[in-house]
Amino acid sequence: MGERLAVHGGPPVRTAMLPYGRQTIDDADVAAVVETLRGDWITTGPRVAEFERRVAERLGLRHAIAVSSGTAALHTAAFAAGLGPGHEVVVPALTFAATANAMLYVGATPVFADVRSDTLTLDPARVREKLTARTRAIVAVDFAGHPADLDELRQLAQTHGLVLLDDAAHALGAEYHGRPLGRQAHLTTLSFHPVKHVTTGEGGMVVTDDAGFAERATRFRNHGITSSAGERFRSGEWLYEMVDLGFNYRLTDVQCALGLSQLAKLDRFLARREAIAARYRAALGGLPGVALQAVTPGVRHAWHIFPLLLALERLAADRRAIFAALRAEGIGVSVHYVPVYWHPYYQRLGYPKGLCPVAERAYERLLTLPLFPSMEDRDVDDVVAAVVKVVDHFAR
Ligand SMILES: *Cc1c(COP(=O)(O)O)cnc(C)c1O
Repeated sequence: MGERLAVHGGPPVRTAMLPYGRQTIDDADVAAVVETLRGDWITTGPRVAEFERRVAERLGLRHAIAVSSGTAALHTAAFAAGLGPGHEVVVPALTFAATANAMLYVGATPVFADVRSDTLTLDPARVREKLTARTRAIVAVDFAGHPADLDELRQLAQTHGLVLLDDAAHALGAEYHGRPLGRQAHLTTLSFHPVKHVTTGEGGMVVTDDAGFAERATRFRNHGITSSAGERFRSGEWLYEMVDLGFNYRLTDVQCALGLSQLAKLDRFLARREAIAARYRAALGGLPGVALQAVTPGVRHAWHIFPLLLALERLAADRRAIFAALRAEGIGVSVHYVPVYWHPYYQRLGYPKGLCPVAERAYERLLTLPLFPSMEDRDVDDVVAAVVKVVDHFAR
């Protein structure tokens, strides 16, 4: 008999709630932002270009286009790829809704494919089954920071004349067969939301080696106009032409100053995320009642989040009860993700439940444990203690 659970009136493992993710901001970040605020350009200026150049360099790619969010990056990539009405785009069922929403933004039809049960990334075998004469693209998601099977997906895309997009919002810093993510897909998108690897508050980026995609993406984030205000100021040219129906998806210099300062710390952030994940895996890997995401050989996992899969057949409680019990212990667990087509909006569009059984079964068992660079080892130990306490209590 263990200690009484906090949810049953016992003492909690900790009193201050530990969030599942949060930004890590230091004085250098603050100074970089203030310096830019005092300068001449607070948008469409040199910090934007420098941030783009640094991210492109880091990923070994020719082009990077900064935009106002990871969602805007997906929308921009979908536009750059020429996706539109009548086109089907295969997307994983287990992702943030924005991955599929962006396909709807351009008038294309998301077609949900199931994920692998071990890594929870898009299953190439299930993708193959979803291809039709109308398929134009595949969107991979590097779930939790684990790279998707990009070689297999690229091969499928090549064989069928499709565009491969990689929603790498979870995976800045991840590697696939020894190379940073970004090379494998035609277009790769990043997010700089505060819970992601580096933050600009809100922000995102499209990266690609293709000059044509890059040109379309650059116009799209600026109303579909052929030059930016900064470029016109510097060249003394007043004429501009709008050639596509774009949006204002620009990221400001103030945000890019923060992004540059954050990017300088990416390796430190990644190392800390890896150390925390290793501590979790060592402590929870053998615990009956839970399973961990598999890590396949040849990848570097970027550990955006730490997913835990409950072995419900060994527990006398469902995910909802275990979630509530962990929250009561002061552990700010979360759940990633509700299968996209289970959301009411997608239900109204007519997607049936049961479409992707692996994702649906995973969803019922998934919990996200806290993971962010400024977590201390004792925070990690609190999470482990709470998981062991709660899982032991409900074990059967
Ligand atoms: C965070 C995220 C996005 C959206 O990024 P925002 O910057 O919040 O718009 C898209 N896809 C996935 C998988 C994400 O985790």
